[in-house]
Amino acid sequence: MSDDAISPLSGMLFLGGELTPGAGERITVENPATGEAIGEIAQATPTDIDRAVSEARTAFREWSRVTPHARAKALHRLGELIAADADGMARIMTLEQGKPLNEARGEILKLAEACHFYAEEAVRVHGEIVPNDKPGFQSLVVREPIGVVGAITPWNYPAELIGWKLCASLAAGCTIVIKPAEITPFTALAIARKVSDAGFPEGAVSVLTGKGSIVGQALVEHPDVDKIAFTGSSAVGLHIQQTCPRIKRLSLELGGNCPMIVTATADLDMAVAGATRRGFRNMGQICIAINRIYVERSIYENFIAALAKSADALVVGNGIEAPDADVGAMASAEPLTKTREHLADALDKGARLLAGGAAPEGEAFARGHFFRPTAVADCTHEMKVMIEETFGPLVGIAPFDTLDEAIALANDTPYGLASYAYTRDLFEVQKISAELDYGNVAINNVDAGIMNAPYGGRKQSGVGYEHGREGLLEYFNFKHVRLFHGVS
Ligand code: NAP
Ligand code: MG
Repeated sequence: MSDDAISPLSGMLFLGGELTPGAGERITVENPATGEAIGEIAQATPTDIDRAVSEARTAFREWSRVTPHARAKALHRLGELIAADADGMARIMTLEQGKPLNEARGEILKLAEACHFYAEEAVRVHGEIVPNDKPGFQSLVVREPIGVVGAITPWNYPAELIGWKLCASLAAGCTIVIKPAEITPFTALAIARKVSDAGFPEGAVSVLTGKGSIVGQALVEHPDVDKIAFTGSSAVGLHIQQTCPRIKRLSLELGGNCPMIVTATADLDMAVAGATRRGFRNMGQICIAINRIYVERSIYENFIAALAKSADALVVGNGIEAPDADVGAMASAEPLTKTREHLADALDKGARLLAGGAAPEGEAFARGHFFRPTAVADCTHEMKVMIEETFGPLVGIAPFDTLDEAIALANDTPYGLASYAYTRDLFEVQKISAELDYGNVAINNVDAGIMNAPYGGRKQSGVGYEHGREGLLEYFNFKHVRLFHGVS
């Protein structure tokens, strides 16, 4: 069944500034809440990929010379066009991704916000004048856009994760070729359609659909792509780093295995609300989702009882029919299978089931990838739920006795993306924020990512930053111009 919102995008690429029918292999795209086919993608061919990159190169010559004010104007216009069509774009996202419509609309509005934020930043990219060691010299540090960017993105935030790369690239004066996730291609094409109305040069933005191993890899290997901006799993990020055949700028925003520490001084209600939100939102399919929670022993039983109640209260629904449901379907069978595996592994090894543990009952959920938000207690680092990224609606909980022990457990992971803590003790706040080895630490809240602060991982969670001024600087090369003028 094709949907009116999707059918104009089905089988299309975005090339030369317009939707263009693709001639490559067809891959069916499904609605994860119903299992129904909603459309198909045409896998970009080597000819399509070369065309997109070569047009991006041509557009770069023009776009990199446009004044920052003109770039800002086009980005503001893009933000307005996207916000004006938030309902239509949200519907496309929910149909392919499964998140409830209201949440999808929120994500589209965040994308619009990213357009405006980077529009504002575009005009604030200053260089520097550096003191010299001899009279008569002046050193200028100039920032120049890198060139053609290849963006490769996952399916969990089909608009925002494109948006940060798209907006920062365009603000900097770069051009961009986007390879969205295979299962969420239509949000990307819907964004590109707005780009063509906003006044960017033809070829400044292209969207190539298809498999990551073919189309994504081709961008990684392409000699005329200057930078790869990737968000996805650590395994694919490492593969990209290892297979990139030439020196190229890489930003890798990768997986996480994010901990939360709750000490005895915490506001318990706030901590439970935070754990519920960041554990289960988007069905836990968030790189910064809370995977594991360490709770000080004196409040452990109270905390887990309250979290069980709060998880059980979450409403699961078909995202189109229940726009205000707390959570929708998972995006595909893959993360659901992994969630079930991690749950079975934890229960086998002695964890206690607190909430969820199965798909919701009823005909409405029979064909989609649904699962109840699930929490397990008494977990140990023998269990996958505590040491691997589940990327699903499953949270593991364990007690701790000392803060040093909690911090050591929280840091006992190859990942370093985001971490959370609830405490009202100043010493604990300072110790936790200093000692957690993560790119983001959120204390007494769970919204680690805000638009104007840098967001990025360390260790196996990646290199580089998105958001904020730092996110924009990722799209520049620095040039040192040392000038002898002779005035002393
Ligand atoms: P993924 O499997 O790594 O895929 C991400 C993207 O890479 C997709 O577009 C994929 O295409 C493409 N790809 C796959 N193989 C490739 C290759 N050999 N060369 C180039 N591109 C290739 O990740 P996912 O399953 O979509 O997303 C979940 C993961 O993303 C989680 O680990 C999550 O933590 C991480 N994530 C990180 C952040 C962050 O900011 N740090 C944010 C969101 C998600 P196909 O769709 O065709 O496979
Ligand atoms: Mg994948």
